[in-house]
Amino acid sequence: MLGEWLKTFTSSKIVLIVKGNYYRFTGKNKQLYSKRYLICKDCPLNSKNKKDLNFIQKLWALFGQFCTDCGCPLKSKLTEPLSECPQLHWGQELKIKNNGN
Ligand code: SF4
Repeated sequence: MLGEWLKTFTSSKIVLIVKGNYYRFTGKNKQLYSKRYLICKDCPLNSKNKKDLNFIQKLWALFGQFCTDCGCPLKSKLTEPLSECPQLHWGQELKIKNNGN
């Protein structure tokens, strides 16, 4: 029960964003960020590529690019190994590695 709660908590969006910011500010996982950003930079759901952002999204975009599907800031989302693209364009790296493929 506690183990399941811990698993759910540590994979929650807010924890992933906090961990992503930690990796970002400590300069960790830069290669992972670069690899994922190659996909995100041209994605139509990246805030920088959307022309019809609403007012809140325009405010959020002042802090940097974000995914308009999940709302996460890309700078932190892309550096967290456990995060995943909501459209499944990336984020399977660890699952594939753990399955031995
Ligand atoms: S996380 Fe996925 S859906 Fe969001 S901008 Fe990046 S590639 Fe697109």
